Order: sequence, then C-alpha cells, then structure tokens
Amino acid sequence: MISVKNLTYTYPGAKQETLHGLNFEVAEHEIFGFLGPSGAGKSTTQNILIGLLKDYGGTIQMMNRELNEWGQDYYEHIGVSFELPNHYLKLTALENLNHFRSLYSGPTLEPMDVLAWVGLQEDADKKVEDYSKGMKIRLNVARSIIHQPKVLFLDEPTSGLDPVNARKIKDLVLDLRRRGATVFVTTHNMMVADELCDRVAFITAGQISLIDAPPVLKKQYGQRKVQVEYLNGAQAVQHQEFPLDGLGDNEAFLNLLKSAPRVETIHTQETTLENIFIEVTGQELSP
Ligand code: ADP
Ligand code: MG
Repeated sequence: MISVKNLTYTYPGAKQETLHGLNFEVAEHEIFGFLGPSGAGKSTTQNILIGLLKDYGGTIQMMNRELNEWGQDYYEHIGVSFELPNHYLKLTALENLNHFRSLYSGPTLEPMDVLAWVGLQEDADKKVEDYSKGMKIRLNVARSIIHQPKVLFLDEPTSGLDPVNARKIKDLVLDLRRRGATVFVTTHNMMVADELCDRVAFITAGQISLIDAPPVLKKQYGQRKVQVEYLNGAQAVQHQEFPLDGLGDNEAFLNLLKSAPRVETIHTQETTLENIFIEVTGQELSP
C-alpha cells in the first residue's frame, strides 16, 4: 500500500535536514507504527505521506501510484487524524461530522454510527468546545474514518488519553483493520506500538534504525531465562534464574520446585519494547 524509498526532507528555510533517508513499506491491511521520541520526525513523515508537505527527496508510492501524481481524489482514499484535534468548536460533534462528511464525493458512514464506535453517541449534540481532550481525540478519529478510507493515518492517537479511552481507540483501530483498512500510526508510547502494530519502525533523529514485529523483537532481545520467586520459611521473597534451554533436566531448578516451601511466581524474562528501543537507539522514548 505504501512504499517509501530514501525519503529526505528539509523544512523550508531550515539549515538542517529533518529526515535523512527513510525506507519502509506498509502492506495492505497492516498496522504499521512509527515509534520514537518527540522530535524524531514522526509527524513530519506523516505530513509528507498525506501530501501536506511537498518537495521531499526520494520516492513514495501510495496505493500503486506515485504520491506526486495523485490529485485531490487522494483524500477520498485516505483518512487523517492530526496530533492536535482541529474541529469547529462552536458546532456539536454531530454537526462537525455532517460538515466533513459533505466534503466527500464517495459513500460515507452514518455520523451517529461512527460516534457510537468511538463512544460519543451520548455527547453527539454537545458543542465541541465543551468536550474534554480525550473526547476531542476520539472525535478526531471518528472524523478520519467517516468516508471509509483505505489508508488511515493516525498521529499520536492516544496521546493524553487515560487508559480506558486509550483502550477504546486501540480497539477501534483493530476493528477498522478487520474491516479492511491499512493503518499508519505514529506514537511515542511503547504500549501503543506493542499492542496495536503488526510491525514497528524505531525512529530517532530522522532515521529508522530497525523495523520488525514486536513479538519477534521481544524474542530476539529477551533473555531465554526463567525466574522463580519463592518464599523460604519466614524470609522475604527470594528469586533464582535458570536458563530456559534444558530446563526439564535442570536439577537445581527441579529441586527448587520440589523443596521450596512456597513458589510465588515463575516468569520468563521477557523484555519490553521500551528496553529494546533504548538498547537499539541509545535513546529513551520519553524524556
Ligand atoms: P515528532 O512528530 O517525532 O515529535 P516532528 O516531525 O514534529 O517530530 O519534528 C521533527 C523535527 O522537525 C524536530 O526537530 C522539529 O523541531 C522539526 N520541525 C517540525 N516542524 C517544523 C517546521 N514547521 N519548521 C521547521 N522545523 C520543524
Ligand atoms: Mg509528532
């Protein structure tokens, strides 16, 4: 669906290049994530892909066509949710959606259905100026899907949301993919990348250092060890680690299971995407 080769970009008047040659591909029905700290170039990349920033270097193929060759009809096929919600604050959510819906020539969804998806049906007739930040972000997503786009671009879709609302957005994105959408999502939140993305690109300072599926990365970077936590008499919790390989024949491990008065937990030592990010890029995701 999306194929990007050697993408470079320098903002007009800027002395330094912002993107230094990005390469990635997004398959149809894939949820592809850009994970990186603030200032890495995620929004810049999204804004190039949606045709907002021009004069980039390299090539971009979108739905089997050069991005430069697409005209206004491009916007019939893509949905965009910007990092900062932009709505008509004096209008209600329903009025906002009816307005944006009228801009499309193709078929659109019923605004009330879309509002129900994002959990805003009760607030459909409320003015957007009275919406909380989380509600505005959900309305943003509702607006980006009203014309059933093939490709959806979501810039930091859960930023500033509480866990319940973040979960709603993640479930909605998964649902949209099930209905056939391809999703490009940017985030500095490793949970979003981990729970949502089929594949994730690590981006720092305008460069991609790695692209892979989160479970593959966790296997590759995790330690093949198991940690046993146990209580030994009145003492505090103790723990011991054992290699996963040959665990069934590991006498020390088997003896511990037999002799420990009380085993509390047994866990493989999985690493987090954030730890891998730090190991690979040398940078933290959030300051
Ligand atoms: P992210 O979305 O990953 O936080 P951005 O793409 O917004 O990062 O920004 C990447 C870099 O480009 C930053 O150094 C930022 O200061 C710079 N930048 C962003 N917008 C502009 C602009 N309009 N003009 C000049 N520089 C910009
Ligand atoms: Mg950004």
